[in-house]
Amino acid sequence: MSEPFLKVTNLVRHFGAVKAVDGISFELKPGQSVGLIGANGAGKTTTMRLLTTLDLPDSGEIIFKGMDATTWPEKVRSHIGWMPDSFDPPAHTTVYDFIDFFARAYGLTGDDRVIEVEKVIKFCGIAELRDRHVKRLSKGQTQRVSLARMLIGNPDFLVMDEPAAGLDPQARLEFKQLVRELQKQGKTLLISSHILSELSEMCDTMIFMDSGHIIRTGNKNELADETNHNRPYSIRPVGDPNELLAWLAGSRDWVGATLQQDGSIHVDCLATGDAETAEALRALCNGNAVLEVSRRSVNLEQTFVNILQEKK
Ligand code: ATP
Repeated sequence: MSEPFLKVTNLVRHFGAVKAVDGISFELKPGQSVGLIGANGAGKTTTMRLLTTLDLPDSGEIIFKGMDATTWPEKVRSHIGWMPDSFDPPAHTTVYDFIDFFARAYGLTGDDRVIEVEKVIKFCGIAELRDRHVKRLSKGQTQRVSLARMLIGNPDFLVMDEPAAGLDPQARLEFKQLVRELQKQGKTLLISSHILSELSEMCDTMIFMDSGHIIRTGNKNELADETNHNRPYSIRPVGDPNELLAWLAGSRDWVGATLQQDGSIHVDCLATGDAETAEALRALCNGNAVLEVSRRSVNLEQTFVNILQEKK
């Protein structure tokens, strides 16, 4: 069997009594886009700093494309791009000089360096910002520069800490388009975010962290099904919704009915198994005037809440 792209085993990083990362293990496949989810202080940034060789673990192993990242940090570093949640650029440095500095640090010289800097500037759509001071840019512009900086050297593993935080809707949309382009290029992505709807659009696989531990990993849809024991539905009634609400309140198969602003009713079906669910739906449609009944997908926020509740 081929080596995983990244294999993390029993990784530990404590700061005094704070167990920031407390024995986590996981694997990534090449080309995967993985979301790292957890409450404040769960250990996400510490994990990312360890993976990007910016910090050393107390114990445990990080094997990146067959190389031990702790023993050979300088070897793996050139394959890894890091986008921190914030950075403090030096005063009076232009966008071009800032990116050029990282190209020099990467070891590029002459025409190769110019070509590389121009390439990432073009990809990130920041040509018109090249002579502006990085410190004076808006949040959205700063994030694009940070993305450009990360892409110097064409790394194949991109680690991004809260990349969409503080961006307006248009900037978030543009950022997601850039991420999609990177996915098409086959990059492997690890992205942390508190905006779970956003993360859900960018990543299929999720790693949930809590208090330095990984409490769940998996495909977001499978996790939603596994952790959401009730089946959420949306029902569009004909006429007065209160009649249907009263019927649902009296039924053993349906719970938590709430009227939505658009006139539909959101409700959970307690029936398990196909036959029972079919029976609950038949009773609903026979006893009431309904225009439409559809399964609602469980969003990532609800999955996160369910996983935290399971843990208690
Ligand atoms: P957030 O979502 O708020 O960014 P996080 O999941 O990224 O949180 P970390 O930044 O990894 O969490 O922090 C995990 C824990 O480790 C926190 O309790 C934090 O205070 C602590 N910690 C992180 N870095 C250090 C450090 N250099 N020195 C001491 N404690 C630290």
